[in-house]
Amino acid sequence: MKRHNFSAGPCILPGSVLQKASEAVINFDNGLSLLEISHRSKPFVDVMENARALALELLGLEGKGYKALFLQGGASTQFLMVALNMLEKRAGYLNTGTWSDKAIKEAQLYDDIYEVASSKDANYNYIPKGYDIPTDYDYFHCTSNNTIFGTQMKEFPNSPIPMICDMSSDIFSRQLDFSKFDIIYAGAQKNMGPAGTTLVVIKEEVLGKVSRKIPSMMDYKVHISKSSMFNTPPVFAVYTSMLTLEWLKNLGGIAAIEKENDKKAQLIYSEIDLNPLFKGFSTKADRSTMNATFTLVNEDLKETFETMVKEAGINGLNGHRSVGGYRASMYNALPLESVGVLVDVMSELERKA
Ligand SMILES: *Cc1c(COP(=O)(O)O)cnc(C)c1O
Repeated sequence: MKRHNFSAGPCILPGSVLQKASEAVINFDNGLSLLEISHRSKPFVDVMENARALALELLGLEGKGYKALFLQGGASTQFLMVALNMLEKRAGYLNTGTWSDKAIKEAQLYDDIYEVASSKDANYNYIPKGYDIPTDYDYFHCTSNNTIFGTQMKEFPNSPIPMICDMSSDIFSRQLDFSKFDIIYAGAQKNMGPAGTTLVVIKEEVLGKVSRKIPSMMDYKVHISKSSMFNTPPVFAVYTSMLTLEWLKNLGGIAAIEKENDKKAQLIYSEIDLNPLFKGFSTKADRSTMNATFTLVNEDLKETFETMVKEAGINGLNGHRSVGGYRASMYNALPLESVGVLVDVMSELERKA
């Protein structure tokens, strides 16, 4: 049976990428596996350099003073690294969900954090707007897409201080002026590759302004000076991410995938809005094109719906425990056809009920 993978993360990857990645595990360089050659050998150094260059190229940040790193420890480690490298006296955070909240908690270990705005009052079903960013703080931090709640920032402030963004679940999914940001980070497993590496894109000039001593593994400058090879990098995750970035480039880059992502989002949200059996979770204006969250109006239909979902080969539709209901994650590699299958199941339920 054909499977339709709506998993929120780790997520669906392009079939051609999985094929090439699995081949490299057996034979990458003259009969040797990618997993058993030196990360200092030319074939792997080329992979790392290519992955870093592709990331900057796709984001339109080449030649603009940015460096791309592939680090370990997930986006969760970035919550801490951002604070260690950038927080001297105070920072402002926009609190739009569980992940922002975790980022705030980590930074609070080091210094005072000011929440510029929060949507916690409504279980994070919207993105706060019209807030002010203090001009004398070290940086402003936001989360572009709230994976759990299904909200997405459609606009970003013109921040008077360095702007840092967790783009884990929508990086490379839509066109933005990425040069507005000074640090962007994203765990690979949402839209780029397997778990195990985190892309960090840094405008180099914002570093080196804090007085604390930073442990080497936590220091962006150390990783930049070693071209993302300070220690043994997660070779498989970096290679697979590189393949996905090549796949995206061959498709026509972010502009091309954005069109597909918009079509998928339109399809699911119009069904959610038209079908009286379902109700969307997030405020319409802030709906995420990556994660669509919705619930059944009548819980009695739960079993019937979930059986139909299963029979259609749909995987990964369960909502996060803090929201309940369902979450259709439609990352870059999910075909429009899969969203069509889900929408058919939803309208079939309406006919049956
Ligand atoms: C999944 C996710 C994280 C956590 O990523 P890890 O790599 O598991 O640490 C952080 N932020 C956002 C927006 C996420 O979706």
